Amino acid sequence: MQIEPQAFDRVLSSMCTEPHPVAREAAERFLATNPGDPGTYPTVATLEDEAIERLGEIVGLDDPAGYVASGGTEANVQAVRIARERATGPDPNVVVPESGHFSFQKAAELLDVELRIVPTNDHHRASLEAVRAAADDETALIVGVAGSTEYGRVDPIPELGVIAREVDAMLHVDAAWGGFVLPFTDYEWHFGHAPVDTMAIDPHKMGQAAIPSGGLVVRSSELLDELAVDTPYLESTSQATLTGTRSGAGVASAVAAMEELWPAGYRSQYVRSQNNAEWLADALEKRGYEVVEPTLPLVAADVPQSTFEALRAKGWRISRTAAGELRIVCMPHVTRAMLASFVGDLDRLEVRASVPVASDD
Ligand SMILES: *Cc1c(COP(=O)(O)O)cnc(C)c1O
Repeated sequence: MQIEPQAFDRVLSSMCTEPHPVAREAAERFLATNPGDPGTYPTVATLEDEAIERLGEIVGLDDPAGYVASGGTEANVQAVRIARERATGPDPNVVVPESGHFSFQKAAELLDVELRIVPTNDHHRASLEAVRAAADDETALIVGVAGSTEYGRVDPIPELGVIAREVDAMLHVDAAWGGFVLPFTDYEWHFGHAPVDTMAIDPHKMGQAAIPSGGLVVRSSELLDELAVDTPYLESTSQATLTGTRSGAGVASAVAAMEELWPAGYRSQYVRSQNNAEWLADALEKRGYEVVEPTLPLVAADVPQSTFEALRAKGWRISRTAAGELRIVCMPHVTRAMLASFVGDLDRLEVRASVPVASDD
């Protein structure tokens, strides 16, 4: 049995990363705590309040409510659940751009709401015309993605907010991946920029916390009440989370990471990651590949299937978009040296591919 985790030195496909040392240490200390039972584990419950306060600062919310979830999936499912509880009609629907994460599919199936998936435009952002056409009186929720999984794109959140208000729907922003880099960009994406009701933002992605550490942040605690169920055998009276027992490691590491890194540490990490993404995009373009410009630290490029397979065979952990492009996420553990080594491997493969096959005569 392999008891060592794999190294990160060839991981270019993950949206997660090595936790920051302070986050790792906090996670270890709080491994055996359960914020799902705050009456018994009050220290970690207090830390969770602090986590939400700190997340509120990042997402432009003075008096935030929410909790540390298992990840973006849970936060998205719960956002759909809140909207469904608030919906007035019998057949609520949720409008999601096709760039939306597959967790909305899970939410729709679990919660029995109709998912209206609408196209993105040429820039991989939600098409406002398509959203407007899909939204109607029965729309409970409009979703905007702030840092999409495949191309790192940010939907026009304020404009989506206008449409949501027109049809009396809620607005959810999925910043699971982008939330810890967007504060250092010019994008309008958060509660202070638009009438956002709920948001997913994952400390365990760009936030450099340990897994599992996701965030559901909501504009007011009444929205969280929509999720609350009574908890007879616990000292606390109700629970809004989807899971019962939860990892205190996620909570403590999120607080430790944010305390250490917000804002200066996250800013310099964003700059490093974005520079790396632009360097890689440039290197790939120079080699004749078609590249989707990295507006956030995520690069997609049209690399032939055979090259992709050969790079995988060399141990590079890389992934593909639905359209088949090579996709590289410039997470904090991805250094310029790693990318240079990756491009070096790519060059060696291409040289071999272009050597004419020796003939027999
Ligand atoms: C990663 C991601 C999710 C899912 O989050 P998990 O933490 O994997 O559950 C949802 N939305 C976006 C945009 C993501 O990048």
